[in-house]
Amino acid sequence: MNSTEIQSQIKWDANGLVPAVVQDAQSKEVLMLAYMNAESLQKSIESGSTWFWSRSRGELWNKGATSGHTQRIESMAYDCDGDTLLVRVVQQGPACHTGSYSCFFNGIEVQGEDRSKEAGADRFGILGRLESVIAERYAERPSGAYTTYLFEKGVDKILKKVGEESAEVIIAAKNQDNDELRSEASDLLFHLMVLLRERGLPLDEIMAELESRHGKPTTNKMR
Ligand code: AMP
Ligand code: ZN
Ligand code: ZN
Ligand code: ZN
Repeated sequence: MNSTEIQSQIKWDANGLVPAVVQDAQSKEVLMLAYMNAESLQKSIESGSTWFWSRSRGELWNKGATSGHTQRIESMAYDCDGDTLLVRVVQQGPACHTGSYSCFFNGIEVQGEDRSKEAGADRFGILGRLESVIAERYAERPSGAYTTYLFEKGVDKILKKVGEESAEVIIAAKNQDNDELRSEASDLLFHLMVLLRERGLPLDEIMAELESRHGKPTTNKMR
């Protein structure tokens, strides 16, 4: 579809705008919501970085132009009835102008059902939550946080830690000490996930890879 055709699919509001939900392509966190007009949609498609219409300033706005917190577009979609855009991005730094990783940091407590049970149903949900926290640290770099320290030191430091923690897992297993193994395996998983964030590889792709291998006979390259 060319951009004229795309524009005809969009249900522009009375002001010629459409809301665009911006999502971290890696962690899947919703980062922000902003509005596009036809021109900013066009510029976004052509440049591969996000352009919006600022309703308060009444002007086109290239996200990150002043802050440096740019968004490289990985993919875009419009919803079933064409009244909302979804923009999946590689976010440089925090998405929010307050310096927060995501704009949606004001939690609202919801009454009624016990939602903790629901959350517990996903046995490995902590991995997804950890991926999001690591993404937040990567964007915000809060001082004093160990994850910030790792990102500031750079990839070589992260690789060194992955190596060390792997060795510690081996030692713990050899010692037949499962308390030690539990702790070292957790260290290894955490540092591996920091490395994945640093390299821009979503956890989903690891899960998909495991899924694709699942149930198939193990090939020689695995041994
Ligand atoms: P930036 O595009 O990041 O260089 O920021 C320029 C200006 O755009 C900021 O001063 C804000 O007014 C506005 N802005 C940036 N990010 C957001 C956001 N996530 N939500 C709303 N306004 C924003
Ligand atoms: Zn819709
Ligand atoms: Zn914000
Ligand atoms: Zn360790």
